[in-house]
Amino acid sequence: MRFSQIMGNQEILRQLREHVEKNTAFHAYLFEGPDGVGKRLAAQVFAKGLLCRHPQGGEACDLCESCVRFTGGNHPDYHYIEPEGKSIKDQVIEEVQNQAAKKPFEGERSVFVIQQADTITERAQNRLLKTLEEPKGNSVMILLVENIQSILPTIQSRCVNLRFRPVDQESIAGYLTKSLGISQAYGKMVSAFSYGSVGRAIRLGADEDFPARRERAIRCAKALGDKDGFIDFAREIQSVTDGAEAMELLDLMEFWFRDALFLSRGIDPLLLVNQDQLPGLYEMLRKTEGGEKGRWPALMMERIEQAKTDIARNGRVSYALKSIAL
Ligand SMILES: [Zn+2]
Repeated sequence: MRFSQIMGNQEILRQLREHVEKNTAFHAYLFEGPDGVGKRLAAQVFAKGLLCRHPQGGEACDLCESCVRFTGGNHPDYHYIEPEGKSIKDQVIEEVQNQAAKKPFEGERSVFVIQQADTITERAQNRLLKTLEEPKGNSVMILLVENIQSILPTIQSRCVNLRFRPVDQESIAGYLTKSLGISQAYGKMVSAFSYGSVGRAIRLGADEDFPARRERAIRCAKALGDKDGFIDFAREIQSVTDGAEAMELLDLMEFWFRDALFLSRGIDPLLLVNQDQLPGLYEMLRKTEGGEKGRWPALMMERIEQAKTDIARNGRVSYALKSIAL
């Protein structure tokens, strides 16, 4: 993998590339951003470039001994740390501290990538801080975090902070169509539902059950627009008892109503998530019209949001789902 193959966040990648090219890497980096937007990939490519003997244009050469060992997963100066269970153990950070103080085995520096660094305890963070304050061996530390609030401000201020953004839908859709061989329309729908996370988009695109779950959500949304739809709705949600499943169902329904709301306000159908569902969306708007334009989908979105909050708060899935229809 190379920088040029990573989707999104091009400005950040340009900077990292420059640090490799000009050999101006800092001692510590903080990659912040939601899951699936390319933090880990960028860190790995960056690390490989930093360890490469002959980087070209900021990219690792892929040919030198260092690159070969990196690709083979046995580079002695590359350390990848991830949580065991829910968090990164204190003794793991102690080991990092010891390693970072030593001279690198082979090249000029050693590189540490710490995945989910926001799970490091405060005590261990203080330990890490010492390493950052007085870097002894020549090391580069890359901390990957979803939530920067869990990182001590003293650590933050010692790091180059790079904020990764969700990847744009078009790039994701293009990638899905090419790599998974799914239709453009479907790729677009999946990417819209991925919130800019490539990882999530790939999971959903490859998930054979996802189309069926989406169909169910659409049936639910349509039933809510029917006068006597409550029975149909209740039947559809009967089997949903799991919180995560319910949340996904609600998300999908919310997209449907959001699309309806957009349509009622004359927004270009090309901007909708459910572009393949235009007849159904128009039909629902026709059935529920009366009063202010878009009132019905807006109301449904409000109730869905409320149901999500309720589930997150008390986990009572069935009750929260039913309350949407009442
Ligand atoms: Zn190389």
